[in-house]
Amino acid sequence: MKIIILAGGKGTRLQKFSKKPKIFLKFGKTRLIDLYLKIFNNKDINFILGNKGKDIKKYLDNKKFKGKVIIEEKPLGTAGYLKNFQKFSTEDVLVIMGDILTKFNIKKFLKFHKKKKSDISLFVHPNNHPYDSDLVDVNANNKVLRFYSKERKKDHVSDNLATAGIYLFKSKIFKLLKKNKKQDLSKNLIQKAIKKNFLVYAYKSAEYVKDVGTPERYFQAIKDIKNKKFNFSNKNKKNVAIFLDRDGVLNKEKKNFRYSNPCNFYPKVFSSLKKINQSKYLSILITNQPAVAKGFITKSYLEYSHKKMQTELGKNNVYLNDIFYCPHHPDKGFKGEIKKFKKNCSCRKPKPGMIFQAQKYYNIDLNKSYFVGNSIDDYKAAKAAGVKPIIVNNLELTKKIKQKKTFANLGSFANSLIKK
Ligand SMILES: [Mg+2]
Repeated sequence: MKIIILAGGKGTRLQKFSKKPKIFLKFGKTRLIDLYLKIFNNKDINFILGNKGKDIKKYLDNKKFKGKVIIEEKPLGTAGYLKNFQKFSTEDVLVIMGDILTKFNIKKFLKFHKKKKSDISLFVHPNNHPYDSDLVDVNANNKVLRFYSKERKKDHVSDNLATAGIYLFKSKIFKLLKKNKKQDLSKNLIQKAIKKNFLVYAYKSAEYVKDVGTPERYFQAIKDIKNKKFNFSNKNKKNVAIFLDRDGVLNKEKKNFRYSNPCNFYPKVFSSLKKINQSKYLSILITNQPAVAKGFITKSYLEYSHKKMQTELGKNNVYLNDIFYCPHHPDKGFKGEIKKFKKNCSCRKPKPGMIFQAQKYYNIDLNKSYFVGNSIDDYKAAKAAGVKPIIVNNLELTKKIKQKKTFANLGSFANSLIKK
C-alpha cells in the first residue's frame, strides 16, 4: 500500500499565528510530521509538498526519511498530482491531508475497503462543524449515495457524516483525473466517481481524526491531548460511551402524542453534549420508535427527523456519534399497523440488542459506560447489557431503583461525571 501525505497548502488560516507549514505544528514535543512518521511505515510514505517544500524536505532528510518527497513545481491542488500514481494499478493508495491530528487503525480501514471491493473509501465521522464540512449520505450498507460539498444551501438537512481528510483509493480510479492540471479531491475525483457509478463507501469511525488548520481547532486539539481524548501512545484501546435515550432525555416527550419531535430539545442539551463530546465518552443514541410499526410515521420520516436532529445539533457545534433505533412493536392487531415491523425483536428496550450492536461496532467497554434514560425499560436494558444505568428526569423511578443521586436532566448528570 502506498501512503500519500498532502502537505502543499499555504496554511492561510494559521498564518497570523505561525509562519511555518501546518505539518510543523507542535503538540508538546511532537510535531505533526513526526506523528505521521511514527504511525505510517516510513518507506511507504510519499510526501507531496508545495509551499515551503524545501524546508520540509530538509527536515525529513535530517530524520533519515526513507520514503519519497515530491515538491510540486506548479500547484496542482489536492488531486492533480495523484494522476501520477495511476500506474500502480493493483495497489491501494491511502491519502491523508497533512493538517490532521490522528491515530487510527490502518489495518481495519484497509480491511473495510477490501471487503466492500470499494473504489474509494472515505473516512467519515460526525464533527462539531458539519455546516462547513463536506458531508455524505449513505445507505444501510454504508455505500455513499450523495456527496454534499461545503458550498451547499444554508437549509441543508443531512446526517452529520463529515469526510475527515483520510481516503483509500484503488489506484485505477486516478484515471478520472486530468494530467498536469490543478484539481480538487472532492470535486474532480470523489464526486466524479460517484456520478460515474464507481463504488464509493463511507468508513464510519469514532477514532480520533481532527483537522488542526485553524487556531481554534489547533488549541482544541491541545486540550484533547490533555483530556486523553487523543493519546500518543495507546493503541486500539477500548472506547467508553454514554448511551442516551431520546424522548424524555434529549427532547420533550409528549404523552399521548403519536410521535415526539426530536428537535424539541430540553434546555442544556447542547451544553451537556458539548461536555460529552469534549470528554473521552462517545455519545450514542439508543431509542425505541414504535411509531413506525404502528404506522404513525414511516421509517424514512423517522430517519429524516434524525437527520434534522443531527443538523440542528451540528449548528450548535455538538453531535451524536451514532443513532441506533428500533422501529418494531410486539403487539399485533391495530388499525394501520405495518406488519413487517410488528414482531418480537431483540433490539427493543428493555432488551439490550441495540447496546450490543453499538458495542460491537465501536469496540466499547460496557462496564465503564453509562446509559442515561428516563424509563424502567432504559434501566432494564442498561442492566442487561452490563452498563451503569442513570435515570434522569423521573423522580419516582429514581427512588424506586434506589439510585443514590438524583438528576433533574442530562446536564446535571454530565456535570457530575465530567469535571472541569
Ligand atoms: Mg424516554
